[in-house]
Amino acid sequence: MLEGLFVNLIPQELLAVLACPKCKGDLVLEEKLSGLICQKCALLYEIRDGIPIMLVEEAKPLQEAPSAEEKDE
Ligand SMILES: [Zn+2]
Repeated sequence: MLEGLFVNLIPQELLAVLACPKCKGDLVLEEKLSGLICQKCALLYEIRDGIPIMLVEEAKPLQEAPSAEEKDE
């Protein structure tokens, strides 16, 4: 029931608490990609069902052109 709400209304104080699990750096909310980006690591931490997936192994690399569409291989 809170689906989607988190992405749109992620509180600044929560953003301040969230940090990249890899470098402990700041994350930037990227609503278009429904995730949080660490620019230092060039990783996207997806937000699924309103919950940020703060796992390095689940993060998506950003080196390729950002695309909302995912290709599963
Ligand atoms: Zn990082």
